[in-house]
Amino acid sequence: MNNLIEVVTSNYQKVLAEVADATNKANRQLSDVTVVGVSKYVDANTTEMLVRAGCHTLGESRPQTLWDKAGQLSHLHCDWHMIGHLQRNKLRRTLPLVALVHSIDSLRLAESISSTAVELGLNVSGLLEVNISGDISKHGFPPDDVAEAIGAVSQLEGLSVVGLMAMSGLNSSPTEARREFAEVRVLRDTLVAGGLPGNVTLAQLSMGMSGDFCEAIAEGATLVRIGSRLFEGLV
Ligand SMILES: *Cc1c(COP(=O)(O)O)cnc(C)c1O
Repeated sequence: MNNLIEVVTSNYQKVLAEVADATNKANRQLSDVTVVGVSKYVDANTTEMLVRAGCHTLGESRPQTLWDKAGQLSHLHCDWHMIGHLQRNKLRRTLPLVALVHSIDSLRLAESISSTAVELGLNVSGLLEVNISGDISKHGFPPDDVAEAIGAVSQLEGLSVVGLMAMSGLNSSPTEARREFAEVRVLRDTLVAGGLPGNVTLAQLSMGMSGDFCEAIAEGATLVRIGSRLFEGLV
């Protein structure tokens, strides 16, 4: 399809305009919000079009796909983010490729990331995933467990926790999603007010997808993970 690049560029520009509008309304700077282009729906060629359209941060939810695409697109200047559940046996190949792991959903995973990072001589940046909606299918720490988790991860070498990640409930309306995102923000603000251990910051909030990124930006999201909106008309 030779208009692939035009379609992807136009979708990306529309999303950027909405992000700009949402940051404006929230009295925030556009530069405070990064669009993570979730490329899991498309092949490496279409993913490349998204980078050419200007989106230099890409998210994948499956380690194997991330490995393959990072290899196929190694000629491009972009950062890869791991946004989906990460099995511990996939760490050795994943960690060297990623700029950020959004989906640290257990202490066991954090400990394995730490030991693998130390072994490979890496310092990995990650977010603690918070299960804010209570959906059974969702991974992550219950909100009440995050404070304790932060204490534990602060002891781990090779891993810097820089924020929180959350998803709205499967059946949440935009209004409900916004309330869920507000809970994450309040949780973050409370933890910060209580004092964080030395190597933990909670500056990053990864929340909001195609259907609710404006609500997420209104509640302080710094990373919005957007997939389907970028590939409308293609898939
Ligand atoms: C697929 C996915 C997204 C993107 O969802 P869209 O609704 O297509 O924008 C965001 N975050 C995670 C964790 C995902 O798996």
